Amino acid sequence: MGQADMAKKTDVSRADIHVLPQTSLLAQSPYELRVNLGKHVPETDVRSALATGDMGFLHSFTTGATVDGPGVRVVAWTSGCMWRCTYCHNPDTWSMGNGIPVTVERAAQELRKYRHGLKVLAGGFTLSGGEPLMQHRFAVKLFAAAKAMGIHTALDTNGYYGDKLSDAELEHIDLVLLDIKAWDAELHKRVTGMENGPTLEFARRLAARRRPIWVRYVLVPGLTDDITDIGKIANFSASLGNVERVDVLPFHQLGKYKWEKLGIPYTLADTTPPDNEEVERVCTVFRAAGLKAY
Ligand code: SF4
Repeated sequence: MGQADMAKKTDVSRADIHVLPQTSLLAQSPYELRVNLGKHVPETDVRSALATGDMGFLHSFTTGATVDGPGVRVVAWTSGCMWRCTYCHNPDTWSMGNGIPVTVERAAQELRKYRHGLKVLAGGFTLSGGEPLMQHRFAVKLFAAAKAMGIHTALDTNGYYGDKLSDAELEHIDLVLLDIKAWDAELHKRVTGMENGPTLEFARRLAARRRPIWVRYVLVPGLTDDITDIGKIANFSASLGNVERVDVLPFHQLGKYKWEKLGIPYTLADTTPPDNEEVERVCTVFRAAGLKAY
């Protein structure tokens, strides 16, 4: 390690120690609003962290989740996302600087506490966000640490930066929870602000490498409830051959207060969550394509 690298490493450690005593890494839920926790980290240290993966920015860790992969999960929620989904329930995770700077060793240490329980409960570790692949080097190191502990790993991603992971790095991820937000290009842009080509390309690559996917689809009445569009996602997903299940996630308003607190205009303030019948109608579309949908 050169002197410059050592200096960067020292800075990273100092930032980590500085912040952690003030804010617990563990949260009751990802719906806790967390802002400015990493804003004091110098830009050069942020760049160094992103390049090496020695440090990441996390909104929090939560435990006991049963919807973010098989069994009971410990979930690390990353900060930083390049998309701007109109229905995002954690807009405080858009900015990396809102997260807690945490060394990869510290994050692995947190995970180590739960390793026996996770094995007994046939659960695992899920990296979610935000968009975890905004910090792909950190994600890779954390997944490698989890695998070394014998823990099942899952990546919850919008897939846009899937090409940042090498084929070898994909082997450390047991399951990809892939968010497909819309099929139609114009609709996808309206929902997320970005195009969906890279997401679909990542799905094809995972299929070619036989890496399992659970597709996640957020159902928002009046926005993402077009059955024709959903049918196209269903046919695409079924054609891949590696989609083990589809989770239809009903839109909710638990994150509404975050938009208000952050002063970001929220276009879905008057949107009502879908009822069970509407969710079931969408599940039926995926099932008609031969997929398991819940
Ligand atoms: S991809 Fe996820 S974290 Fe990013 S804006 Fe969309 S819902 Fe929010």
